[in-house]
Amino acid sequence: MPKGMAKGQRFICQNPECGCEMDVTKASLVEATSNPRCGCGVEMKKPYVKPTVSTLHLAEGISFTSNRRTPEDS
Ligand SMILES: [Zn+2]
Repeated sequence: MPKGMAKGQRFICQNPECGCEMDVTKASLVEATSNPRCGCGVEMKKPYVKPTVSTLHLAEGISFTSNRRTPEDS
């Protein structure tokens, strides 16, 4: 799973009295270490999506092989 905020992700404020929802229209270029925070001060989280409607799993099959290291003994 890619960390950070991916394009198209939705975050919902955990404050039931607020109920703010936020869509990510542009992916974050840095690795996020925490969820975004709503204007009301409460952390926002991704809502649970049913597997039948989830299309994000398509991207999970991508493996990153460009980061491989070769052992270098001097
Ligand atoms: Zn809020």
